Amino acid sequence: MSWRERLFAVRSAAETPPKESTKRRSARSASFVKFVLLNLFAFANVASAHFEDGPSLSSVVSQNSISVVTVAGVFIILLILFAVVRTEPSEIFKGVIFFLIALAALGATLYLSASTVYLNMKSESGGPVHWHADFRIFNCAQEVFLQKPKGLSNRIGRTDLHEHGDGRIHIEGVVVERKYFSLREFFEAIGGTLEAGELAFPSEDNFEWMVNGQKCPDGKPARIQAFLYKTEGKIIRQEKLDNFMDYVPSPHSQVPPGDCLILEFGEEKEKTENICNFTQIAINNGDYSYEK
Ligand SMILES: [Zn+2]
Repeated sequence: MSWRERLFAVRSAAETPPKESTKRRSARSASFVKFVLLNLFAFANVASAHFEDGPSLSSVVSQNSISVVTVAGVFIILLILFAVVRTEPSEIFKGVIFFLIALAALGATLYLSASTVYLNMKSESGGPVHWHADFRIFNCAQEVFLQKPKGLSNRIGRTDLHEHGDGRIHIEGVVVERKYFSLREFFEAIGGTLEAGELAFPSEDNFEWMVNGQKCPDGKPARIQAFLYKTEGKIIRQEKLDNFMDYVPSPHSQVPPGDCLILEFGEEKEKTENICNFTQIAINNGDYSYEK
């Protein structure tokens, strides 16, 4: 080997991009992808764990949707940060980052649309509803009102079962199972309780607590009773509900034909003289006839 040849050999050895470095780089990208996938997998486990203890499918799905969107968003931000801090990124690196961002965005979108479709298919209402029922509560003949809603949402209760300070039960969303929209569920949602012999809830200036057998100021033992003004065609009838805790409001947006519910803690009786305002107005206007 002449000195020229030797020099050439040395030079070309120095100039040839070391194969090792590319390999190492792609190995690093691969381990990054693995890291990301592992995280995603761990997250999916956390998300699906919600299914075991969640109360209703719709709240589980909405909870999971929030988690999925949050995690996908954080993940995309991290990827962008990672790409920005990296000096001289290789084409493979850029490709991987782009692919992962697209994957996260697409994954979250797919999850949201699939879960919405799934929820609507599974639901007893066959999709989102907006039902209303009016109510009034009397504690020993004294009308009591729920605490006033505060904050931006201006409601008390769940997103799909709440009150707006209007004496009205709002059922808004997908009714997957009707049993999650009973009166018991409503009082639970607003921070109270409704059982066969007990009614409790935070009221405007107090915490109302009524238990069967307690006495009213008139000295008579009182019981929790529920009366329902229900519409059938153009007729409104009043009935006393036995199993009022499990009662689910009728599927109407307007009241009436939506229900009017009167909850009373007082002496046992068969009928109530109390009625909700809109139901009374509709009867007075002749829109409905009241069959006593
Ligand atoms: Zn509403």
